[in-house]
Amino acid sequence: AESSPRDQPARVRIFDYELEEAISRNELQLYYQPKVNLATQTISGVEALVRWNHPEKGMINPDDFIHIAEENALILPLTLWTLNAALRQSAFICNRHKNFLVAVNLSAGILDKDIVDLVMGAVHTWDVPPHQLVLEVTENAIMEQPETCLRTLNQLRSHNIILSIDDFGTGYSSFSYLKRLPVQELKIDQSFVKDMIHNVDDAHIVQAMLYLGRTFGLKVIAEGIEDWDTLDRLATMGCDHGQGYYIARPMPFEELLEWIETSGWADTDTPAKRAYSQG
Ligand code: C2E
Ligand code: CA
Ligand code: CA
Repeated sequence: AESSPRDQPARVRIFDYELEEAISRNELQLYYQPKVNLATQTISGVEALVRWNHPEKGMINPDDFIHIAEENALILPLTLWTLNAALRQSAFICNRHKNFLVAVNLSAGILDKDIVDLVMGAVHTWDVPPHQLVLEVTENAIMEQPETCLRTLNQLRSHNIILSIDDFGTGYSSFSYLKRLPVQELKIDQSFVKDMIHNVDDAHIVQAMLYLGRTFGLKVIAEGIEDWDTLDRLATMGCDHGQGYYIARPMPFEELLEWIETSGWADTDTPAKRAYSQG
């Protein structure tokens, strides 16, 4: 399909053939954003976020090219690249520290039966225990093909992969469908977190999601924490996990290792720090 220039962001215009070459030319790069435990104040894992280091256009964010990958059958190679790169880089942390989780995003349209073997192949290749891999899937991705997704998610779960609903609260799924999903984590969308200190409705929505998570025994993580007040409020409300610019921005792997060593979230009890210093 030909996409009109108006569909593209003004800042960068990307073509599908460029993206296909980017994968083979190794122009993709992973950034990692820490996820922390707000109760123990330690790092609990990372989310891998893809970037495209374009030779002329510079560093391109995923919002500018994931949709092109999705529309041009490039999302499978892109996802496999991300999954393998994330597991390869974090394997040594995961192996020494059994609580450290590495999360990868899965797009819509990828949750068919083949993905299960590909995911399991990748965890075996890089020797990461399946229960230390988190797959983040949005509600909307699931609702595109609810029955297929449910089957695939159940299979992934039967292999002990951890499943997380990303952008929770922004999708179309009903509670009766959510109840059937074999997920372990709800990720509160940043649109509710951003203004929750000043917007009472947002604070109530966050509170309701925390309650929902507790009721169903799910871990709840808030994304998009940009200041201390929000972080403190979430911790007081009983939200155990968080992620956001206030804690750390996404960063290259080498910087992540440094961050694990030096940030306030990495005291001597931090599993990841011990992994690194022993290693
Ligand atoms: P997402 O999964 O919701 O990821 C969170 C996005 O919010 C990231 O943007 C992250 O940099 C940003 N973010 C984190 N904390 C804050 C904060 O405190 N404030 C604000 N304003 N933003 C924050 P990023 O890296 O540009 O990723 C955008 C989206 O691209 C992701 O949204 C995800 O849906 C998609 N994506 C990223 N990597 C991959 C990938 O490897 N595969 C697939 N299929 N999708 C990916
Ligand atoms: Ca995500
Ligand atoms: Ca999200």
